[in-house]
Amino acid sequence: MRIKILIAITALAAAPVLGFCQDVNKLIKQDDVERIIKTLSADDMEGRATFSRGIEKAATFIEGEFKAAGLKPFTGNTGFRQSFNMVRTTPVSAKVTLNGTDVTAESFVMGASSSFNWTSTAGIEVVKITADKNFISEYQALAASDKKALVLVDTSFAKIFDRIAPRAKRGGTSFKSATAVDKALVFVLGVPDDVKTLAVNYEATIKEQPLFNVVGVIPGKSKPNEYVVFGGHYDHLGILKPMEGDSIANGADDDASGTTAVITLAKYYKKLNNNERTLIFVAFTAEETGGYGSQYFSKQLDPDKVVTLFNIEMIGKPAKFGENSAFITGFERSDFGTILQKNLEGTAFKFYPDPYPEQNLFYRSDNATLAALGVPAHTISTDQIPTDKLYHTVKDEYSSLDVNNIVATIRAIALSSRSIVSGKDTPTRIPKLEK
Ligand SMILES: [Zn+2]
Repeated sequence: MRIKILIAITALAAAPVLGFCQDVNKLIKQDDVERIIKTLSADDMEGRATFSRGIEKAATFIEGEFKAAGLKPFTGNTGFRQSFNMVRTTPVSAKVTLNGTDVTAESFVMGASSSFNWTSTAGIEVVKITADKNFISEYQALAASDKKALVLVDTSFAKIFDRIAPRAKRGGTSFKSATAVDKALVFVLGVPDDVKTLAVNYEATIKEQPLFNVVGVIPGKSKPNEYVVFGGHYDHLGILKPMEGDSIANGADDDASGTTAVITLAKYYKKLNNNERTLIFVAFTAEETGGYGSQYFSKQLDPDKVVTLFNIEMIGKPAKFGENSAFITGFERSDFGTILQKNLEGTAFKFYPDPYPEQNLFYRSDNATLAALGVPAHTISTDQIPTDKLYHTVKDEYSSLDVNNIVATIRAIALSSRSIVSGKDTPTRIPKLEK
């Protein structure tokens, strides 16, 4: 008996990757992956829209998985839900009179933190977006500010104005702030020489509603204050315009696939039970409506202690490099990708740099918030986004997925993350974005 065991041990030592591969193949099971993703993308989740019954159901399911896996709640939370309040503003009526003339409904749009009534320009800043300016960046800067302003927009921007107006007119969602803000922006298409008189009336209903990430933790054995985060967003678009009788945007690939990876990796690492660093598993909410979940999450911990974030988005269909491959956004920004590649040497799987840099994917998912805070936070994906016809349609459903691709990618993430989880490798930091 003894000699056989010795041989077995020697064989394992000679082929360490093989040993780990056996672990991932044994502990990450196709049928469990299938069960999780089928559940998350089922019609009864109603497309997991923020503030919906469906997302509530999805969160409850993920909590159950984290509990069954034996994870611990995140510091400060009593359960796996990390809840926070959002303020939803829905406009009821709006009217603008400028220099004695009513502005037509198509030619103005406004947003505010509450109902308001202006009878003159007193206390109101008048801003002009003239033809020589960049409308989008001016618009974004104003939206991010706490200003009370009348914004006069050059008619050369009429097309962009028409595009953003319908969405802005539906109202908006924002974090509930600790201090009362009194911001209001009124955009009017057309720049008169002078603003002599102004009257604006805006009525809106304001409703406070909770959102919740689902977060579970496996404390680190020797480096508990160094966090390795695995994340994916569990929200999606909800109900869309019907297409061939189907109106549920199931979001099977986007991002039930990534959420499934997060749950599966949590179970895997809990069973291994050898992580030196603390592992945090998070299903982010409200990615599709503005990344509120990841923004809130990033404020609940010290980003300097976050070693890295594996954000997993859309791994449900083979990547353009063929099977057993995935890509990493922002590959060149840290050596995260190089570490992962090194850990996969001797296996069939390969990670590539993002082949679609023009799509700006690095800034289009939940990794962006932590990356801006200096964390090597990258997104792993296999989606061929420029040609993916199912993306953000009711056709993104379970039947369109390649489960083998999902399982292979999850196993590859498990294998490639091991030296970071053990504390042996630490990805280089990303420069913090100046505010
Ligand atoms: Zn997504």
